[in-house]
Amino acid sequence: MPVPKATVTSMVDVTEARDGVGIQAIIFDIDGVLTENDRPVAGAARVVAAFKEAGVPVRFLTNTTSRGRDHLAKDLVRSGFDAVPEEVFCPSRAAGEYLRRRGAGARLLVREGALPDFEGVSPRSELPDAVVVGDLGREWTYDLMNEAFRLIHEVGAELIGLGRTRYWKMGDDLQLDAGPFITALEYATRKDALIFGKPDPAIFEAVIADIGLPAGQIVMVGDDILTDVEAAMKVGLIGIQVRTGKYRDSDLEGSVSPDAVIDSVASLLNAS
Ligand SMILES: [Mg+2]
Repeated sequence: MPVPKATVTSMVDVTEARDGVGIQAIIFDIDGVLTENDRPVAGAARVVAAFKEAGVPVRFLTNTTSRGRDHLAKDLVRSGFDAVPEEVFCPSRAAGEYLRRRGAGARLLVREGALPDFEGVSPRSELPDAVVVGDLGREWTYDLMNEAFRLIHEVGAELIGLGRTRYWKMGDDLQLDAGPFITALEYATRKDALIFGKPDPAIFEAVIADIGLPAGQIVMVGDDILTDVEAAMKVGLIGIQVRTGKYRDSDLEGSVSPDAVIDSVASLLNAS
């Protein structure tokens, strides 16, 4: 049954406190908020559906760099969520849009699954305007790193990083993500990377521009108090922390005070 907009917008008191107009749009982090270990969080699909039925714009914002937005949207649908690729923001999409807007060619050091987000970007390998570095995992070699270094240092290509995540967990094992490789290239070239990925502001700003509303009317829901919540609040979004995913009680003992803390994303409906 559709949820009336009035109900949805009264769900979280904090939004009233900010500007009195309630939630006008909502951005969900995916992993740890909507899904945990690739399984949907209880009640999460219904929350997403309720906002959409109420006419509230919904976006999904993830730092995943191994898959592009089409693939991520399919994963969401498979988990029971109402999602289309246009609503999914990930580092590869944001970087692809940035490069297309400039008509820039790029050497793409990204996983095959992320390549569709760079459609229309010329894969110039000799004289690229940019080198895009994502999580290549076991495909990294000295030669690839050295090629990236030379293109940035000697050819003058811009270094674009897909997030700055240091590592992630696969099964029981920690795996290096893109962050350490981007930092190595920054160190070698003495140039700063342009990062598309939370917590850097560029990707939040891309989502806000796509929604087309003032940041203060848009909620960001995340499980990472720094990457999601603090970073969102820094660009003016309303930051809501969930107690699922990577959340630990000690997260709230630091310097970040979320606009609201809720048990899980399902609380967005239960509170009404
Ligand atoms: Mg998360």
